[in-house]
Amino acid sequence: MSGIEVTGLAQRRSWESVGLPDVEQVRPGLWSVPVPLPNNPLRYVLVYLLELDSGIAVIDTGWSTEEAWSTLVAGMAVAGYTPPDVRAILITHIHPDHYGLAGRLREASGAWVALHPADAALIPARYGLGLERLLENMDALLVEAGVPDEVRAELTGASMGIREFVAAAEPDVLLEDRASVPLPGWDLVTLHTPGHSPGHVCFLDRRGRLLFSGDHVLPRISPSVTMHAQQPVNPLADFLDALRGVRDLDVDEVLPAHEWRFRGLDVRVDELLAHHRQRLDETYAAISGAPGLTCWETTLRLRWSRDWSQIVGYMRRAAVGETLAHLVLLESSGRVRRDDARPVHWYPADDSSDR
Ligand SMILES: [Zn+2]
Ligand SMILES: [Zn+2]
Repeated sequence: MSGIEVTGLAQRRSWESVGLPDVEQVRPGLWSVPVPLPNNPLRYVLVYLLELDSGIAVIDTGWSTEEAWSTLVAGMAVAGYTPPDVRAILITHIHPDHYGLAGRLREASGAWVALHPADAALIPARYGLGLERLLENMDALLVEAGVPDEVRAELTGASMGIREFVAAAEPDVLLEDRASVPLPGWDLVTLHTPGHSPGHVCFLDRRGRLLFSGDHVLPRISPSVTMHAQQPVNPLADFLDALRGVRDLDVDEVLPAHEWRFRGLDVRVDELLAHHRQRLDETYAAISGAPGLTCWETTLRLRWSRDWSQIVGYMRRAAVGETLAHLVLLESSGRVRRDDARPVHWYPADDSSDR
């Protein structure tokens, strides 16, 4: 049981009854608008509306579907606004549930769209002309991981179905780490928190003592950190560093992009760090118990949150990517090593059975 204090009690009640939470005023001038995610276990993304002297800024947007759009517009109406009132669109990261409606919202408002440069750099490959190259790289990565041919074809293009939920928008403003966000009436600072996505950011509201944590810190689930064709060399190391980086922020409440608001950032960060320590140990145990496993074989030996037969398509690729992220971190900390075969086999660092 988690040691955090849930502050979004109504949000969690709705979650338990499998409903969409209500639009809520979190603080004077700050609103939370749940936007539904079709056929997705996360169920909704929490869009935040920040009132300005004139108009509003939004943090994240939802998937680009008609249902999401009309829910977002209805949520704005509860707060007394319409899409043309939007002045700024701040995106925590480019996953479709956060960035999907950015283009449409900008069209409706003329607002500027802001992203971290590391995620902005991924847009052409992911949503534009570089797609073929991206699929090739993804396939090569899955070959190296030892994914069998019959499974690989399904996994390579596994997230292509989601692309239709994105109306791609090039950002107008790039937000580097520690950049203050130019919003009149707010003291908002960007914190680069890579791992879940290379350019993931959180926004720290220094005056209101709030953290908009995106997918970096969620109250219930551990955000997925996977190795894939668009990730840097050691995304899990980046993620764990970025968790430590936010642990001691002096905030009264955490406003995540999914699930519910909570208090106890340090407690939650410690839980997530412990989860990955345990996962690293479990991965190491699999390799030391059977030196020479591929990443795919290792994946099949680990415990997952649901039965493997229910992990299909995109989730299966994410599972392989998560295992690989753990193997890469174990390698960088000197606990395992790889051979240079295709597919790659993994050994405990002190094992010499392939030599
Ligand atoms: Zn995400
Ligand atoms: Zn998300």
